[in-house]
Amino acid sequence: MRRFLALLARNRLALLGLVVMGLVVLLALVTPWLPLKPPNVTNTSDKFLPPFSEGALLGTDHLGRDLLSRLLWGTRLSLAVGFAAAAIAATLGAAIGVVAGYYGGRVDNVVMRGVDMLMAFPYILLALAIVAALGPGLFNALIAVAAVNIPFFARNIRGVTVGIAHKEFVDAARLSGLSDARIIVSEVLPNVVPVIVIAMSTTVGWMILETAGLSFLGLGSQPPQADLGSMLGEARSAHITQPHTSVVPGVMILIIVMAINLLGDGVRDALDPRLRSGALSRPMAATQVARDHVPPEPRAEGVLTLTDLETQFHVGKRTFRAVNGVSLHVAPGECLGLIGESGSGKSVTALSVMGLVASPPGVITGGSAQYKGQELIGARYGKLRQLRGDRVSYIFQDPLATLHPLYKVGDQLIEAIRVHHPVGRRAARERALGLLRDVRIPNPESRIDAYPHEMSGGMRQRVGIAMALANDPDVIIADEPTTALDVTVQAQILSVLSDLRRERGLAIVFITHDFGVVAQLCDRAAVMYAGRIVEQGTTEQILNHPRHPYTALLMKCVPELGAGRRRLEAIPGLPPAVDRLPEGCAFADRCPKVQPDCRAGEIVLRQVGDHAARCLHPVERAREEAAQ
Ligand code: ADP
Ligand code: MG
Repeated sequence: MRRFLALLARNRLALLGLVVMGLVVLLALVTPWLPLKPPNVTNTSDKFLPPFSEGALLGTDHLGRDLLSRLLWGTRLSLAVGFAAAAIAATLGAAIGVVAGYYGGRVDNVVMRGVDMLMAFPYILLALAIVAALGPGLFNALIAVAAVNIPFFARNIRGVTVGIAHKEFVDAARLSGLSDARIIVSEVLPNVVPVIVIAMSTTVGWMILETAGLSFLGLGSQPPQADLGSMLGEARSAHITQPHTSVVPGVMILIIVMAINLLGDGVRDALDPRLRSGALSRPMAATQVARDHVPPEPRAEGVLTLTDLETQFHVGKRTFRAVNGVSLHVAPGECLGLIGESGSGKSVTALSVMGLVASPPGVITGGSAQYKGQELIGARYGKLRQLRGDRVSYIFQDPLATLHPLYKVGDQLIEAIRVHHPVGRRAARERALGLLRDVRIPNPESRIDAYPHEMSGGMRQRVGIAMALANDPDVIIADEPTTALDVTVQAQILSVLSDLRRERGLAIVFITHDFGVVAQLCDRAAVMYAGRIVEQGTTEQILNHPRHPYTALLMKCVPELGAGRRRLEAIPGLPPAVDRLPEGCAFADRCPKVQPDCRAGEIVLRQVGDHAARCLHPVERAREEAAQ
C-alpha cells in the first residue's frame, strides 16, 4: 500500500487529480452543514442575478434559486449516483466475468453471448430504452447507467480470469480438494481485484457523464431536485443571455471528470505490475551509454577486447554496479571461460558488449569493448545491428525467452540468416536444416516446422545454439548454453564448438558454472565476483593452482568423479549486494584468509606467481602442492 501511494505520488498529474477529487468529495460530504440557502426555494424577483451578487456568490438561475447551493447539492447527488453506478456495474460485471471465465465451456458461452447481446445495442440508446421502460427518475437512471456498463466489466474480468484459471496454483488448489467457491474467493479474486479497481477508476468519469446526460435530457433527476446534468438542462434556454447558469455546472462537470480520469490513469499505472518497475517507456534499442571514463588507449589484443567495462543499473536513487571494471579479451580460435556464482555479473558483462542490456535501467558508465579494433560502446545503432547475430552472436541463457512462441523454429532460423545475407528462401532453409543437424536435433526435416512449445527445453536450447552459429560468426558469447542439456548432448555441442574453433578460428566467450566444461573447452579462464574479475589465467593455472581464495573455494564445491570420498564444501555467506559494495575486497566477509588490510582501499588485479589475481593474501602454491 505504501509502495502504491509512493508510485501514485510520483505521477504529478495523478496527484493533482487526487487532490482535486479529494476537495470535491469533501465539499459534497459537508454540504448539509454549510451555511447555504435552501437549493429548491424559488424567488422569481431575484432571477438571473449575476455571479458575485449580494447574497448569491455564483448568482441565481431562472427561478431565482441560489446557484452555489444548487451546485453543491447537485454535485453531491451526481457523485453519489456515479459512484453507486460504478460500484454496481463493477460488482455484477466482475461476478459474471469471474464465473464465465472460471467455469469456461458452456457456462462461458451462454453468459458471454448474453453479455454480447447487451453490447450490441448502442450505449446511450440502451440507457434511454431502460429509462423509458422504468420511467424517468434518478434511481432509474442509476440502474440504466449501471446496466449498460456491466458488459464492459464482464468482458474485461472474464479475460483476466481465463488466464488465471489455468495457472498452476489454481490447479494445485483444486487438487488439494478446495471447492470451486473457495478457489474463486481465495485464489482467483485476489488476482482480479486490481483489474477491477483499474477498470472502475477509469470508468467512474464516464458514468458521471452518462448520468448527467440522462438528467440533461430530463430522464434523470426530476425538478426541483438538482444534479449537475439537470442544472445544465434547465440552463439551456438561457444559454446565450445568461451564460453563467450553464457555465457553473459545466465547469464542475469538467473538473470532476478531468480529476477522476487523471487519478484513474495514475491508479492504473501504479497497480499494473508491468509498469510498476517505473519504466513506462519501452527499452531502447541499444543500452544507454554515459561514460565518464574511456580508456585512453584500449588494448587491441584479440577479436574481442573489453577494457575496464562498467555497467550499472540506475533504479530510483540506487545504483547497482553489476559490472565494475572488467577487462578481458579473446583471440581467434580461442575460448575464454567466464566463471562465477549466480549474480556475479557474467550475463550483464556479456550483454553489455553488444549493447543488449535493457535501458532503462541499464547504463554503460565506462570502459570500452572492441571488435577487431572497432569500438562497440556508443557505436551507431545501425552498426551494432549489423554486427549482432552476424559477426558477434549470442547463445542466451534462457532458451524459452530466445525463441518467438508464434513462429516455427525453422522460420526463425531462416530469418536470422536472411537478415544478414541475401540468400534465397530455399537456400536458407537448406542451411537451417544443416544447422539443426549440426546441433544434433533428431529428425531435423520434421523438426524444422515445429513451434518452440512443441520442443523440449534441451531442444530449444540447441535451436538457440544453431541460431548463434547461423551466420558463421567470428565471436560467440555463450551464456550457460548447456544448462538444459543432458551430458551426452552437452558433449556433442561442445565438440561442435571445438571443431568450429579449430576449423574457422571462432572465438568463444563461454560463461558457465561448470569447471568440467571449462577444463574440456577453454584455453583461458576468468573468475568473476561481485562485478569484477578476481582471477584470470590459463585453464591449467586456474584449475590446478587457484590463487584467489574465492576460486579455490568455488572448486571445492564441485564434486569430482573418481576422486574418492571428499567433503563437499559450500562457501559460507552470500555475495554482497552490488548497490552497497563494501570497501576493499568484496569477498572479505566470506574469506577464510581475511586480514584487516583486505577491507581498505582498492585492491587491484596483480600478478601472483604465473597469473593474475585480485588478492592481497593469495593461496600459497607450495602449500597446496604439499597438501596434495
Ligand atoms: P550472472 O553472473 O548470474 O549472469 P547477472 O549478470 O545476471 O549475473 O547479474 C549481475 C547483477 O546485476 C546481479 O546482482 C543482479 O541482481 C543485477 N541486475 C541484473 N539486472 C538488473 C536490473 N534490471 N536491475 C537491477 N539490478 C540488476
Ligand atoms: Mg547469468
